[in-house]
Amino acid sequence: MVLARSIRRKLVVGLALVLVMMATLSISGLGGLWSYRQAVRELNFSVFEAPDRERLEAELAALATPLLDESTGVLRQELVDRHRDATAALAEYRSRWGQLERSPEHQANRPISRQLLAQLDRQLLEIGHSIDGAGRLATAGREELRIQVAASLRTARSLPDPRAGLRGRLREADRALASRTRWLVGSTIAAVLLFVAFVHAGYRWVFQPIRALHEGARRVAQGDLDYRVELSTRDEMAELAESFNQMTDRFRDIRDDLDGQVRDRSRQLVRSERLAGVGFLAAGVAHEINNPLAAIAMAGESLQERLEALLGQAAPDEQKVIRQYAEMIGREAFRCQEITARLLDFSRGQDASRAPHDLVKLVNEVLALVGHMSRFRDRSITFSAGSSCQLEINGPQIKQVILNLIANALESTSERGRLDIELTSQTDLVTLSFADDGCGMTSETIENLFEPFFTTKSTGKGTGLGLSISHRIISDHGGTIEASSDGAGQGSQFRLQLPRRSEHIDSDWVGRATSDGLAESVVEKTIETDGEF
Ligand code: ADP
Repeated sequence: MVLARSIRRKLVVGLALVLVMMATLSISGLGGLWSYRQAVRELNFSVFEAPDRERLEAELAALATPLLDESTGVLRQELVDRHRDATAALAEYRSRWGQLERSPEHQANRPISRQLLAQLDRQLLEIGHSIDGAGRLATAGREELRIQVAASLRTARSLPDPRAGLRGRLREADRALASRTRWLVGSTIAAVLLFVAFVHAGYRWVFQPIRALHEGARRVAQGDLDYRVELSTRDEMAELAESFNQMTDRFRDIRDDLDGQVRDRSRQLVRSERLAGVGFLAAGVAHEINNPLAAIAMAGESLQERLEALLGQAAPDEQKVIRQYAEMIGREAFRCQEITARLLDFSRGQDASRAPHDLVKLVNEVLALVGHMSRFRDRSITFSAGSSCQLEINGPQIKQVILNLIANALESTSERGRLDIELTSQTDLVTLSFADDGCGMTSETIENLFEPFFTTKSTGKGTGLGLSISHRIISDHGGTIEASSDGAGQGSQFRLQLPRRSEHIDSDWVGRATSDGLAESVVEKTIETDGEF
């Protein structure tokens, strides 16, 4: 902020300097014009002060005018007056010429003009003598006088006329003064307009972008990473704004990425804790009910043996029903025992060792298993893969994951549903994709898919553990499992990626290594309740 202010201040100081520069130039221009005007005035004054030959000629011509009228005689008094005026004009010419002839440019004319002036003096004196007297001038005297005046006029015309040259120069100077004045006024107006345009452009090109960038930096500093600096200019400022926006985009991406990572990690943590709880609880329950179950199974067995002896008295129909019930007690008790045994395995931990397995073979084994299930018989399943694909994995665990994904996919489809499985392998990675045309998933389902106990199936049908355990198994193998769907009714896709040589990823979940045991029991439960295995 301090910096922005100081730049603003510097720009204002720069503008002030330009203004001062313009003012200085204008003042010096005005000063030059002023001195030129003074020079023109002086020239004007010089013209006025110079000897006026024109007037002298005019006065002599005026003296000649009455002499031209031949009808009546000329009054001497009138001629005396005009002679006096001509003499005065000559005196004035002489006195002004006296001052001027000292200047170097007129020095050459000095002797001749003095001679001419003396001649004119004599001629005017003679004219004066000729008109001296009273009354009218006789015709003879008039003719003589006319010749004398004409001679004096010729002499006067031979005198230098300094005003003639000065008048031309004065006209030129007047024109130059007018044009310079116009030019100065025009250039001053243009300079003022240019200055205004300069200030306006400076505001738009420099002030506004700086202000926009400053605002952007302030907003981003406050955490508004969606803020964008928009500049209409196409210069370095716009490039700066573009870089600024790219930087903000980068910040936002990093923040989103970190947020996503934190969300994923939190979800994984919650999932692990819940699974750990499940493992702990399962172990406790399995341990507690194992003994009563053993007693029930044993009692069921001996009940069956004893019943054989007693059944002879009962009706044949009754015998059949009683036998079935007794068998069911024994069978289901043993099944429960098996489950509890697995739960105990699960809590104690199982073999998590990895060995080379052919994934194609594993998938085919699962498909053969599913093929025996009558309720999925009308579904069409395709599997495209190469002849074999060797991976270092825990075979039973991965088989369990595949079974879980296939069972989910088939359950999501209706009659004549379709499931396409594809196996592609890269150098270090193997991808197994499952695409069904079943009920699809909403974004909310996808979001919670791998959470323990998340299920959309009706109570008693789903446990919501299959995918969370599958996710854990795949993560332990250093792989990934992803789900996608275009929405409800649009089918679902699951993509499983496994490294060829899986590193053993140590999990913080107590029941990690035995998750397949639980998964197996879960899927098996789903399948066995249908009585299809
Ligand atoms: P369960 O199958 O016991 O519900 P899972 O963890 O295997 O538990 O699955 C959780 C939920 O994920 C299911 O209830 C179902 O809503 C959804 N799901 C899984 N696979 C698919 C699929 N292929 N199509 C649609 N929904 C699926």
